[in-house]
Amino acid sequence: MTNVVEKVYEQVVERNRGEAEFHQAVREVLESLEPVISKHPHYAEAGLLERIVEPERQIMFRVPWVDDNGQVQVNRGFRVEFNSALGPYKGGLRFHPSVNVGIIKFLGFEQIFKNALTNQAIGGGKGGSDFDPHGKSDLEVMRFCQSFMTELSRHIGPSTDVPAGDIGVGGREIGYMFGQYKRLKNSYDAGVLTGKGLAWGGSLVRTEATGYGTVLFAQSMLATKGQSLEGKRVTVSGAGNVAIYAIEKAQALGATCITFSDSSGYVVDEAGVDLELLKQVKEVERGRVADYVERRPGARLVTEGRVWDVPCDVALPCATQNELDGNNAATLLRQGCGVVAEGANMPSTPEAIEAFQQAGILYAPGKASNAGGVATSALEMEQNASRTRWDFETAEAKLTDIMTDIHDSCVVTAEEYGRPGDYVLGANAAGFTRVADVMLAHGIV
Ligand code: GLU
Repeated sequence: MTNVVEKVYEQVVERNRGEAEFHQAVREVLESLEPVISKHPHYAEAGLLERIVEPERQIMFRVPWVDDNGQVQVNRGFRVEFNSALGPYKGGLRFHPSVNVGIIKFLGFEQIFKNALTNQAIGGGKGGSDFDPHGKSDLEVMRFCQSFMTELSRHIGPSTDVPAGDIGVGGREIGYMFGQYKRLKNSYDAGVLTGKGLAWGGSLVRTEATGYGTVLFAQSMLATKGQSLEGKRVTVSGAGNVAIYAIEKAQALGATCITFSDSSGYVVDEAGVDLELLKQVKEVERGRVADYVERRPGARLVTEGRVWDVPCDVALPCATQNELDGNNAATLLRQGCGVVAEGANMPSTPEAIEAFQQAGILYAPGKASNAGGVATSALEMEQNASRTRWDFETAEAKLTDIMTDIHDSCVVTAEEYGRPGDYVLGANAAGFTRVADVMLAHGIV
């Protein structure tokens, strides 16, 4: 790293001790900004790097609730309002036992650039809790969500901060949080949360958007080589919202998706994933991937190694951060994988990214390829503000245009800095300059 960038990074490490994922996300962005800073030194001179790595506001709070046995439980809640240069803070809420301030900060930091890439008027933020919805009753989830929103409601609003879902937060949780917000504020502010149900302000395509967008991005990358997803073997990790709809779109475009996974292992289904069965198991029954295998002849559950051991043409990591390491990357490359598009946030470790880039394969970082989810959240905000509802085709056409636009700005920006095909540089530089120019216009605030 150059001196300027190194100094900023060191200060981040010093000031945010023990927050490994946050350091990792900052390092990746700062490293790829080096050519930007040497070409446009005024950004560094205006202290923009130091400002952009410091959240505008961080909120941590107690979330007490009562479980079904009458016991008091205490979780920790977070909202990191990272950057509001381009619009209200925007980003999901993650409910998972691994959640801590470093994870929320890495996610919030990534969100700034991702949201900028969508070209919508949304700033970056993220929140969540170390609450684990798995194995909780519906009423426990509701009591938790109400307690969480009782505090969060003081900090958010349709023009201030607009949370949505992430891991562990789907339509059910958004519903309970919206109900509590409405009650506390005595106001039907549909635009305060996105990912809402279709009957109460939600947008068609929001559920599908992250997965669909990831696949559309992979398709655009393949198109630069005169190829498509037709006939490709695709491996997918995860079995949540992102994975399910990535599989749906990839199969619709003629690919065969042969895997998905959860924390108990991964499933290989050489005939191609039976999407209706997967949706029944995960969305309706909230079950485990093993339940799929029991009902699907020919599918097998593998509990050793990772899904990346399965040979493929295209890999779509759609589970969680750092799920694909240097060894996994080497295996993928050795077995002929030529495309990696991230549906999750930061799923590839720095070693894996380096391996993909050295091999010269098509590699899309999550902040570009998974931006379809938050982009469609912005479309939901737009419909809420104008009290309209678009049909599925209209919303999907807008999502497709946005993903094409993100892809093309990554390509153009990478070329501008003399590194054609480098989607990491393209995404980071394009996202950064959009935010940085507006921060300059707003003065030192
Ligand atoms: N959590 C999603 C993401 O990582 C979506 C955020 C949103 O829709 O606000 O981008």
